[in-house]
Amino acid sequence: MTDTVTFDEGLIKALREAENIIFFTGAGASAESGVPTFRTGTDSLWVDFDVEDYATLDGFNRNPQKVWQWYKGRRENMAALQPNVAHHVIARWQEKAPRVTVITQNIDNFHQDAGSDLVIELHGNIHHFKCLNDHPVESSSVDNSEEPPLCEICGSLVRPDVVWFNEPLPQEAFDHAEMFSRECSVFIAVGCSMEVQPAAFLPAFAASGGAYLVQINPEASIFDKYAYTLRGKAGEVLPQLWQAVWGESFN
Ligand SMILES: [Zn+2]
Repeated sequence: MTDTVTFDEGLIKALREAENIIFFTGAGASAESGVPTFRTGTDSLWVDFDVEDYATLDGFNRNPQKVWQWYKGRRENMAALQPNVAHHVIARWQEKAPRVTVITQNIDNFHQDAGSDLVIELHGNIHHFKCLNDHPVESSSVDNSEEPPLCEICGSLVRPDVVWFNEPLPQEAFDHAEMFSRECSVFIAVGCSMEVQPAAFLPAFAASGGAYLVQINPEASIFDKYAYTLRGKAGEVLPQLWQAVWGESFN
């Protein structure tokens, strides 16, 4: 049974009139697809696996084979998963607003799979690869490899193109995210803890440009005092929001 969420008239009006919307998504947006969340809770990936071994450059340098195999297993597990209704509502929003930008902290490619055209990935993509010197590597040439291949340009090891702990966000992606955040009229955070810097700066950039801040989150967060909060899971709230704004059921 889905809880019914009530929506403020000001929010509905802002969304109907918005020319430029950002959906900023975190682990909560993909949890309903079955993707384990990274940081907290009993379903966290890191209950069973040590972050230091599997999600740091040091861990990869210590045992590239082990880390490579683990990511290969994760890609294979993900192949059985699909975007959920939250991804689909966000993708369909493109039919309604002149510009819809997705900024995501997820690495699962589900926004693109659902049909979103403009997706900025702050933490990389588990299906993409690069070498230790940041040369991009074609996925199809290494995806099925049983051990980390060597870069054809520089000979260094190939690794997943995801942001590991203690690594900076990709500068170009963050610069784009900042630019779009400053220009948007509505900024909707979906399933984000809002505590991961520097991504948590993005709503502040949006607010400085006068944007209406909204969050969809089943749990209390530090963002509660800054944003209009819709309490609930993304996959339950977004179809209701669609119906309230556009006067048609989402299916
Ligand atoms: Zn290279």
